[in-house]
Amino acid sequence: MATTLYIIGAGPGDPDLISVKGLNQIRRAEAILYDALVPAELLAKARPSCRMICVGKRKGHKEFSQDEINDLLVFYARRFQCVVRLKGGDPYVFGRGHEELEYVTARGICAEVIPGISSAIAAPSSAGIPLTKRGVNESFWVVAGTVSNGDISGDMILAAQSSATVIVLMGLNQLQKIAAVFSHHRSSLEPIAIIENAARQDQRVITGTAGTIAALAEEHKVCTPAVIVIGKVVDERNALTCLANVYIEQEVSDETNTENKY
Ligand code: SAH
Repeated sequence: MATTLYIIGAGPGDPDLISVKGLNQIRRAEAILYDALVPAELLAKARPSCRMICVGKRKGHKEFSQDEINDLLVFYARRFQCVVRLKGGDPYVFGRGHEELEYVTARGICAEVIPGISSAIAAPSSAGIPLTKRGVNESFWVVAGTVSNGDISGDMILAAQSSATVIVLMGLNQLQKIAAVFSHHRSSLEPIAIIENAARQDQRVITGTAGTIAALAEEHKVCTPAVIVIGKVVDERNALTCLANVYIEQEVSDETNTENKY
């Protein structure tokens, strides 16, 4: 039987938020190459003999380049029948899953992608924020906060000019710039939420506005991983359905507006 590499989305962090199909392959796997954000409880479902290779960034451990990860996938797929590449969220949402698939299939290895629940979808839900609500919004955009040259993407500026709800991944380092873009194109009162460690035990939700969110994030020392949600749906949140054990509402006055830079 030909080896299949299963590129599996582990979901946002709650170990129960993985597909049955993904979990079944974890149980069968002879080797699992996993990202640092993948929950340990999922790895514990593997067979005791399964080789576990962490290829994500972890304190005190070697960091693998994408090229090294690609080569490791080929190395293990050539030695075992069932190999799993386990990635956070969904492999095809800012996850480089398709690059990995292309690399291994070009070397004669069969690969299958098993989708996962992206943090883009799970973070607002876990915070009690509806991604869409009838009469409030008509669409949502998922935008990368930081692009490869380290700046914010041009799409962010286009998104701010639309009426869409904007979900930002990898955006915490650019929060001040992002808030300034939305203050300029929408309003300094535009609602913004940050969901830190979404769908995990230590989830925190911080809500504010384009004018206040950067100061709130600094005050509360918000850390990665975090998803930023921008738009009126933030005001529709239902804190009672929120999984967060910490829920911080706006405390800074709107007069401390971020300077408009755009
Ligand atoms: N493929 C992943 C995204 C990878 S990019 C997915 O579909 O979710 C990494 C970014 O995802 C982080 O910078 C952060 O913005 C977001 N992220 C991933 N997991 C998260 C979590 N549990 N809580 C908050 N943000 C998360």
